[in-house]
Formats: sequence, C-alpha cells, structure tokens
Amino acid sequence: MNAPPGRNEGARRAGRIVQGHELTESQAIEAEVCVIGSGCGGATVARQLAMAGHDVVVLERGGYYPESSFDQREINMNAKLSADRSMRASADGGTLLLSGQNVGGASVHYWADSYRTPEDRLQLWAERYGVEGHDLARLTPAWDELTATLNVHPATEDYHNRMNQLLRSGAQQLGWEGHAVPQARKGCVKSGHCMQGCVYRAKQSQLVTHIPQAIDHGARVYADVEAAELLRERGQVQALRARVIDRARNQPSGVELTVRARVFVLAAGGYYSAPFLLRQGLQKQLPMLGRNFGMNPTAMVHGLYDEDIVLWRNIPAAFGVEQFRLARYDAAGAYVEGGYLLMANQIQPGLLGSMMPLMGDALGEWMAQMPRIGGTIAWIDDPADELGELQLARDGTPKVVYPYGPKTQAILRDTIRKQAQLQFAVGARRLLVAGADALQLDSTADLPKIDRLPIRAGGLFMAAPHPSGGCIMGRSARDSVTGPSHRVHGFDNLFVADSSVFPTPVSVDPSFTIMAFSYVAAEHIRQML
Ligand SMILES: Cc1cc2nc3c(=O)[nH]c(=O)nc-3n(C[C@H](O)[C@H](O)[C@H](O)COP(=O)(O)OP(=O)(O)OC[C@H]3O[C@@H](n4cnc5c(N)ncnc54)[C@H](O)[C@@H]3O)c2cc1C
Repeated sequence: MNAPPGRNEGARRAGRIVQGHELTESQAIEAEVCVIGSGCGGATVARQLAMAGHDVVVLERGGYYPESSFDQREINMNAKLSADRSMRASADGGTLLLSGQNVGGASVHYWADSYRTPEDRLQLWAERYGVEGHDLARLTPAWDELTATLNVHPATEDYHNRMNQLLRSGAQQLGWEGHAVPQARKGCVKSGHCMQGCVYRAKQSQLVTHIPQAIDHGARVYADVEAAELLRERGQVQALRARVIDRARNQPSGVELTVRARVFVLAAGGYYSAPFLLRQGLQKQLPMLGRNFGMNPTAMVHGLYDEDIVLWRNIPAAFGVEQFRLARYDAAGAYVEGGYLLMANQIQPGLLGSMMPLMGDALGEWMAQMPRIGGTIAWIDDPADELGELQLARDGTPKVVYPYGPKTQAILRDTIRKQAQLQFAVGARRLLVAGADALQLDSTADLPKIDRLPIRAGGLFMAAPHPSGGCIMGRSARDSVTGPSHRVHGFDNLFVADSSVFPTPVSVDPSFTIMAFSYVAAEHIRQML
C-alpha cells in the first residue's frame, strides 16, 4: 500500500459535509488524518489539525442535522440526535445511557455547562494514573482560547429560571457553597429547548463551532458512516473500513468507504470507543480495555410547589451547588457525605410525564399541576474503586456493566437526602423521589424514610450522561490503553481523543476537559505528520 499524501501535497481540498445518501458506490478515500466521531473530542481534534493545514476526514455514525431542521419536539429530536433514542440501558437495566449520535455528537443536546477540570482531579490523574502533560499550565491556554471561541461565561441573572433561583436561595439558606455555572452560549433566547438541539444557533455546540471551522479549513465530514474495522499490520493502522448507514432504516446500506490515512484518531465517545477497540480483537494486547468505566449516574427528586416553576423554560443549569463535589470520608475511611454536583433539573413535559413513577389518581394529582413541578438532579462522581466495565454483548454492541457498589449507593442516598432538604427549605409542598418505590415526602419529618429507601439497580430512575474511561491514559499497557500522548499502546499511528481516556470521571461536567485534552492530542499528532 502506498503512503497516503502528506501535508501540502497537491491542492488543498475544499471542506464539506458528505451525507450517506450521496454515497451510492463503495469507494476509497485518502487523508492525512482520519477522525472517528464528531463530538467534543473528534470535532476539536479535527478543527485543530485542519487549522494547522492538515488534510482531515471525519467519519460520523449519525446523521447531519443542520440547526434549521430542529423542530423543538422531544420525540422527533430525540430520534435525530440521541443514540438509540436515549432508550439504551446498562446491562442490569437500571440506568439509561445517554449519548449523541449525529454530527456534533452529544454537544448538540447537551446543557452547555463548561467547567475547567478541577486541579485536584488533574493531580489525582497525574499522580495515581500517570496522566502526564495534562496539568493546569498545559490546559489553561486551550481553555482560554475555547472560552473565547465558544463564548463561555458564567450564567448571569437573566439565565436563572425559577428553579435555579430557588436552588441558589436554598444553598444560601443552608450555607452550601455554589456558583453561577459557566455556559457556552451566544445570543441565547432562553427557549429551554437545549436538549432538543438549539434552533437559534445560540448554544455553542460542536455543530455550530468546531465542525464548521474545521470544514472552512478543508476538513471533509462524512455523516452516516460507521467505522467498522482497522486494517493494520502489527502496530501500524493502514486503512479503515467503514459502512455507510441508510438513515431511514438505521442499517448499513451495503456501500462501504475505505479510508487510507497516516493517522487515525478514535473519538467515538465514552460509550463507543472502547467497544470499537474490543471489536478489533485487542483485549489480549490491551488488558485494561473497557476498564475504569464511569458514567456519573444521576438521581433526581421532583417537587410540587405553590407557584409556577415551569421547569422547561430558560437554560437548564444557571446555578450549581459545589459544596459536595468531592466525597468526604472519616479517619476510619467511612463515608460521611458528598461526591456529586447538585443542580436544578430541566425536563420537558413529555419526558417528565414518562418519569413519574405513579399510577392513577396519584399520577393525575402531579400531572394536573405540571407547571408547578420543580426538581433537582445530582450527578455523582463515581468512586474510583467502584467503577464499571465496558464489554461486548453477543451481537457486538456495547454492554455496560456497572456495580453500584456500597460507596456509590451511599453517595446516591446522600444526594437524595440533600436534594430533599434543599427543596423543602425553598417551599416544596411535596417531594417525589424518581424511582420504582415512588417514595413521596411531605415534610422534613419524612427525611428518615430516605435512609430506608433501597438503592438497587432499577430502583431509582437514573440517567448517565457523562461516560468516561474504557481507554484510560497511563504509563504502560499493563495499567492503561493509551499513553500521555493519547497514542494507543503498541500502535504507531492510532490515537484516542475523547472522554474514554479519563482514568476516573472528572467530578464536573466533562465537555471542556474533553476539548482541552483534544488540544493536547492534536499537538502530539501534529508532531508526527
Ligand atoms: C442530556 C445531556 C446533557 C449534557 N450536558 C452537558 C453539559 O452541560 N456540560 C458538559 O460538559 N457535558 C454535558 N453532557 C456530556 C457531554 O455532552 C459529553 O460528555 C460530550 O459531548 C462527549 O463528547 P465526546 O466527543 O467524548 O463523545 P460524543 O459527543 O458522544 O461523540 C462521539 C461521536 O462518535 C460517533 N460514533 C460512535 N461510534 C462511531 C463509529 N463506529 N463510527 C463513526 N462514528 C461513531 C457518535 O455517533 C457520536 O456522534 C451532557 C450529556 C447529555 C446526554
């Protein structure tokens, strides 16, 4: 096989998006760099490399939906933007696994909370796991640039809907530390349709930022194309075989694309990158593949108020309670409290209705007062010694095995207790813990009932929007899948640039960490082009 063209060889290509229906015949294409996935990881790497003058191709399994096609309807947009319509669950059936599947990845339906990685987490990763070259000094210039590109700024007063105002007031009353959440938005009209994709182009998702910037610099983005097989000789990936997906049937169309490139970057997201490598038969060579999987499972508490809350308007997270970000343990190692971020919930009416664990009159009582339903949510910082594993199901699809160990259970119980405490402090008349036991609380006198609530798989209504791990970064193939340069151990030209390289969850929402890490990955890749 001849080497694919290098930088500056031949005329620069015009960037564009190619959709699956345009690909009617199998064909081979060439590029310097082939990126798999177009989310915060893939789009950022593609932008950085394209802007540096490299010839980049991006393959994306999902469709291309320009923002003008967004209709703000939950059912339609969930089908377009979310993998498996957000209906895939962990192996025990207990947790909904949420991720994006479209050009722009999960950022198209995300909340736009944009946190820099806390320094304590970067230190932990460096000291315990060997994640070198990703300290504050290295990442800060990337965040400074991203802050300008994505217009990241703390949520101002006008971003606070009633639930966020109540959250802030409750935190103040209880003496809990909180902050205005940094938001990646420009000209936000506060419609509340962030999770249906922003038709106003205000939310600074990858779809409206790094993807068009990469294309402006010559990148070619292939939508509806699923990377299937790495064609390799020992440690050298020579080409990638990919399948074109017929979007209407969500099945391979029979057309194939073969991509020859000098470098391949896997950025298929936390739920898909490790399974992709597992399907290449690499488990023996990389024993850590699939391990250290975290997903920030969330527990939610709904509240009924005497005033209109209208949970589905304005942005989801203007205020965040960070008092409990890190879990606290006593001198004997017993769990005390914390290990989560606590925020206002945002749920559109359809999803809210489907998440009420009640029947008959009890359900009617809540649903009749829908505008008065408020609520909170907390994503937990999965304890490092109770992480899960990504495996392959018999049909080759990802299988999420997650233990919900004793510390994780204690953290979840604590989040429910604190959410209830806060909501009663700000006037909730009745609370409903989102879970199979349909526990309702009428006052703080009911709080001890939370201590008896069974925390078990399927017991709570939980979603997991922040997958991490599976291809963790570290020192050698014994303890990790990639090295600090993002290169997969044992390969010359295969890199990973998404949340799957994190050895543990980030302890805050991950998108800004993913992007800054992708800057570092792009720098390492540039050195070998
Ligand atoms: C409802 C919701 C709200 C969120 N809100 C926030 C928030 O406010 N702030 C924050 O920081 N984070 C938030 N997140 C999480 C955040 O959006 C993700 O962590 C981040 O966008 C992930 O980026 P990524 O590049 O790692 O993966 P993804 O965005 O998942 O991108 C991976 C892409 O790869 C594609 N792909 C997978 N397999 C293949 C294949 N074989 N071939 C080709 N393409 C493939 C997928 O279709 C996908 O588009 C939220 C998530 C959800 C679900």
